[in-house]
Amino acid sequence: MEFEIWWLLAFPLFFVLGWLAARVDIKQVMTESRALPNSYFRGLNFLLNEQPDKAIEAFLEVVKLEPETIDLHFALGALFRRRGELDRAIRMHENLLEREGLAEEQRLRAQGELGQDYLKAGLLDRAEEVFGKLLQTPQHGLARTYLLEIYVQEKDWQKAIDAARELEKDTSKPLNADIAHFYCELALLDAAKGNPDAAAAHLQLALATNRQSVRANLMSGDLDAAAGQHEAAIADWRLVETQSSAHMALVVERVLGSYRQLGRIDEGVLWLRALYARHPSQDVFSALYLAVSETEGAIAATQLAREELRRNPSLRTLDRLLEAQLINAEPGERELLQVEKSLVAAHSQRMMRYQCDSCGFKAKQFFWRCPACGRWDSFDPERREGEV
Ligand SMILES: [Zn+2]
Repeated sequence: MEFEIWWLLAFPLFFVLGWLAARVDIKQVMTESRALPNSYFRGLNFLLNEQPDKAIEAFLEVVKLEPETIDLHFALGALFRRRGELDRAIRMHENLLEREGLAEEQRLRAQGELGQDYLKAGLLDRAEEVFGKLLQTPQHGLARTYLLEIYVQEKDWQKAIDAARELEKDTSKPLNADIAHFYCELALLDAAKGNPDAAAAHLQLALATNRQSVRANLMSGDLDAAAGQHEAAIADWRLVETQSSAHMALVVERVLGSYRQLGRIDEGVLWLRALYARHPSQDVFSALYLAVSETEGAIAATQLAREELRRNPSLRTLDRLLEAQLINAEPGERELLQVEKSLVAAHSQRMMRYQCDSCGFKAKQFFWRCPACGRWDSFDPERREGEV
């Protein structure tokens, strides 16, 4: 076999070439690092030692000494905004924009950052102006996303609908669930102004946009009930079960109320018992328990509470069971039961909360849009027992 001797010569050559290449890199790095002010390394050192305040001061010095460090300007600006130091973030980005000779791409980026600073500072008019200007630029996707956020915060729902539709075209991400909420918000305003026809029309648009809009059916029922049309209201509310059985927790009291208005509470209880068998949940149980106590008496209610306690042991159910037992108790037992009940009731009431699945925010009230993280439909419609 003929071995190609020249390969043996080639190895040291590659080695030398590699070494030279490495030296060139090292040399370049050394030159660059000499060009950087000392404060840059001090800043890095503070960062590594988890002293962000001192790091920021050091980096600010670099920015003063070396105004060409554009990326460092952006990094510091974004950092200030994240830390809530919005004055500093705004100054940083305004200074960048005042600069002559800034490349177009960086100017647009600085505008986008400044818009976000204004938005976080609650200066919605200024943010809207900045993002409005960016609509005709390559930054239009970012601009529309933030404009939509601004319109939602301003509760300008018609503008929010238009912006969301444009954004859908930009990103091909469906926003129909959000748009349906915007129509529901418009319907709420109509109803508050005493215009139920306009409200009903907006709810129809919500359902046309998103057939799964639980809120539109729930609000349609509220409108019908307010107009005394309880049969229609019950039909609207019962549609919710076909969309999301969990949301029936928000509906059951309303349905029972309308059956009561129609003088057909027994029919309502029958329906509720069947619903509870299909989708047992604490909130549905609670409504059923009250209705059964009202129509069938304490013994039937005790029986129901025992079954629920076996299915799902919880303080709230125990509270119900004690309540039902208290009604039937002998005078001698009554006192102790009363103490037990008041202890359990105080605790279970304090602990029942709706919760955002996205950020964990807890509230006594149900929200369609989380007040903490701003997401739509992130609240679990069933309350949970948990730490306060
Ligand atoms: Zn949230």
